[in-house]
Amino acid sequence: MTKDITAEILSIGDELLIGQTLNTNAGWMGEQLGLVGIRARRVVVISDDRDDILAALGDAKADVVLITGGLGPTKDDITKHTLCAFFGTRLVRHPDIEARIAAFFESVGREPLEVNRAQADLPESCTVIPNDRGTASGMWFERDGRVYVSMPGVPYEMKAMMQQVVLPQLVDRFAPPAIVHRTILTTGLGESHLAQRIAAWEDGLAADRIKLAYLPSPGLVKLRLSTYANDDPGTARSRVDGQAEQLYTLIPELIFGEGDERLEQVTGRLLKERGQSLSLAESCTGGYVSHLITSIPGSSSFYIGGVVSYANAVKMEELGIPSDMLELNGAVSQPVVERMAVGVREALRTDWSIALSGVAGPDGGTAEKPVGTVWVAVAGPGGVRSFKGFFPGTRDLVIKRSALAALNLLRRALLEAVHAAI
Ligand code: AMP
Ligand code: MG
Repeated sequence: MTKDITAEILSIGDELLIGQTLNTNAGWMGEQLGLVGIRARRVVVISDDRDDILAALGDAKADVVLITGGLGPTKDDITKHTLCAFFGTRLVRHPDIEARIAAFFESVGREPLEVNRAQADLPESCTVIPNDRGTASGMWFERDGRVYVSMPGVPYEMKAMMQQVVLPQLVDRFAPPAIVHRTILTTGLGESHLAQRIAAWEDGLAADRIKLAYLPSPGLVKLRLSTYANDDPGTARSRVDGQAEQLYTLIPELIFGEGDERLEQVTGRLLKERGQSLSLAESCTGGYVSHLITSIPGSSSFYIGGVVSYANAVKMEELGIPSDMLELNGAVSQPVVERMAVGVREALRTDWSIALSGVAGPDGGTAEKPVGTVWVAVAGPGGVRSFKGFFPGTRDLVIKRSALAALNLLRRALLEAVHAAI
């Protein structure tokens, strides 16, 4: 059994502690470390304060200590000086780095100030990690078998350094056990109900030494299967694939993709493959489904457009909903949402359409139709289908969840339409 290689992340910056900047670096770094088999065991967020930084460095017990922040040219950024104190070293100027900083300033038509040039002053005992996206270099230190890497806080600069230098060097240095991951994306069932559905399957994972993580976000739950590939990555891959295959047979209707795929992407691909077009009639989501679809490159090949029929007048005038239908049933109802879907499909002459009408809140809920009640309809060549969803939560969550539910209804209709045609 290979030794577990662990990491600790020190996020330095006053802005992180007062909520001005979200600590996205730590999450991203933890994920990247996990992918190469290094286990992040602790994240420490500290202020730009010498004593706090020294204490956190002294407390670090992991094999790898990754530090971000505090490398700017201004006086409030003190990480570099503090690292010198911790490692008992001093700053020395690197003429090659100074020349690069000067060239960078000249390329944007400005004179570098002394504080900018001083970014070429780096601790004598470190290995410098070049920064091709900015002026703050990274620093790699080793002491007592432990590696410390200090990187800039700017995510775009830190990410390039991690991917180009730090992660490959850490893999070389520690040879962490390879990990095999597979992330399966589900929608349509909340985390706890999903867990209940797949409980027996989950119990069987231990025998295959596979770990399962539930990663819920609004409207979907990711299931991540992972296992260490100790000696043989091939066997680990087939263990994970075997279990994933079983999961597909268990909950086929809930799985829409894997990895980084998005539901709008998967649904869009189905439309594209079939050479079919889509239109939308959105009420409570106010164009959010349209935004999701148009954020996919190439969506113009299947998406025609939509009507944001927020007011009843627009539902009547643009989509042909009879006023007595609205009066009798209310806008949030099955007949209205189905008529919206049919109306927009006819108006924009598409193969498929989606319509949504719901109570996004926080006001407007009733006992019969509480906040979070959303009717969703899909119209297609075979007719129209609809369902009433209940997505409790804030206005934002109601919108996000109902949008995903609508896209999933279309995805399933598209898949069934193919089966029906065979
Ligand atoms: P610094 O290296 O401290 O000069 O950081 C520069 C900028 O990077 C800060 O002003 C933040 O906007 C951003 N930043 C710093 N640390 C983080 C972090 N942990 N997560 C996300 N952004 C960060
Ligand atoms: Mg800072």
